[in-house]
Amino acid sequence: MAGETPSTVSQLLEALERGRCSAEELVRDCLARIEAEDGAVNSFITVDAVGALTAARAADAERAAGRAGPLAGLPIAHKDIFCTDGLRTSCASRMLDNFVPPYSATAVERLAAAGAVTVGKTNMDEFAMGSSNETSYYGPCRNPWDLERVPGGSSGGSAAAVAAGLVPAATGTDTGGSIRQPAALCGITGIKPTYGRVSRLGMIAFASSLDQGGIMARSAEDCALLLGAMAGHDPADSTCAREPVPDYRAALAMDLGGLRIGLPRHWFDATLDSAIGERLHAALGELEARGARLVDVDLPNNHLSIPAYYILAPAEASTNLARYDGVRYGHRCADPADLEDLYTRSREEGFGAEVQRRILIGTYALSAGYYDAYYKKAQQTRRLIRQDYLDAFESVDVIAGPTAPGTAFRLGEKVDDPVTMYQEDSYTLGVNLAGLPALSVPVEPLDGLPVGLQLIGRHFEEARLLAVAHRYQQLTDWHLREPPAAGGAA
Ligand code: GLN
Repeated sequence: MAGETPSTVSQLLEALERGRCSAEELVRDCLARIEAEDGAVNSFITVDAVGALTAARAADAERAAGRAGPLAGLPIAHKDIFCTDGLRTSCASRMLDNFVPPYSATAVERLAAAGAVTVGKTNMDEFAMGSSNETSYYGPCRNPWDLERVPGGSSGGSAAAVAAGLVPAATGTDTGGSIRQPAALCGITGIKPTYGRVSRLGMIAFASSLDQGGIMARSAEDCALLLGAMAGHDPADSTCAREPVPDYRAALAMDLGGLRIGLPRHWFDATLDSAIGERLHAALGELEARGARLVDVDLPNNHLSIPAYYILAPAEASTNLARYDGVRYGHRCADPADLEDLYTRSREEGFGAEVQRRILIGTYALSAGYYDAYYKKAQQTRRLIRQDYLDAFESVDVIAGPTAPGTAFRLGEKVDDPVTMYQEDSYTLGVNLAGLPALSVPVEPLDGLPVGLQLIGRHFEEARLLAVAHRYQQLTDWHLREPPAAGGAA
């Protein structure tokens, strides 16, 4: 079936409900596409054909018995940071190359309980550290729109798999932009929910106060369907919110009359690439023509997000990654001379360069004598960044901006220059520091490459964000464009 326009989640669920296809057929089709096309893209680390077909047959049986869950038979992929019971979960690191978890992440379990079928685990930056998917132990993933370019990161495999039509949707995680930036660079829709909206249990920790799981799919409607199944309180994660989960799909129809969209002045000034700016303004113009009001807002401390994040995230990472010691699980070096040698060589061999850099920065920032100068200052800055957003939301309902400073860049272009790579996150990091929900939707491409518009909402107002994105996607069809590499007629 390669070459057909990939179907959306809602179309596939309808086809399943009406009996026009079986879950087994859908899953076989996904597996065939992955087999045929993923050699060039490298969006999967592990494909679970046997498990997926078993789950698909079970979904078909449930449907025949009239007991089908809301997502019964829908093939999806999980970022390889989510633990999957009995299925290798590597976090794209040599350290966890041999790790088979004894349980599944709550998010994975909830999607499975709703009937979704896991076809495999997607490529990513090692331990979710990066913006290009180039730090993966399993080799870079490529952007289906141009195989010489990166898909973004760290959830690059999920974004590329959806963009290439290999799966209709995939999970991702976002610590500083890792759902939104790859969604933007691959021309799909991706939502990072409010911190605490989705359980972090079984999601391998990078920076625990920032990490949040979410959904990457073709449309806002598809994200709404899957987020509803994935979100909600988990007694096993003390940071998971008790806030009730609304029916996100039903909320797509909410009245957006009088919607006020805030445009942070510094994001739309001369520092923004003018061609990107034109496309974002055109998209916002569509919403304005339907009654939305565009209002200037200020986020005066947002320029401090990169320095604050790149202290806090490595600090948390350095403590989270201390558990990989070659003793309990993960990579162990051969023939250690003594315990010290076991620790150091296992970690040196198991972690790649970017992960080691973060551990070093984090350990330094947390060390006695530097703690006040770095970690404490960064925490204070975080507070200011968050307050700016809360102040802005006094006068607007959502905030709009670029997702990334440019389109997909070439493989190798930034990977040896971490500071340039970190600039990719300038529009996304503040959202994580403030714990807010945000999504990226594709707007008009630039030179054949996707461009994303970022929409940021108040805490727990995912429904409104999805409704605004859905309204835009009813007016335009950029989200349905297919990359040439997927074999479709664009
Ligand atoms: N690019 C950012 C980083 O490298 C964000 C990563 C993420 O959100 N997981 O840390």
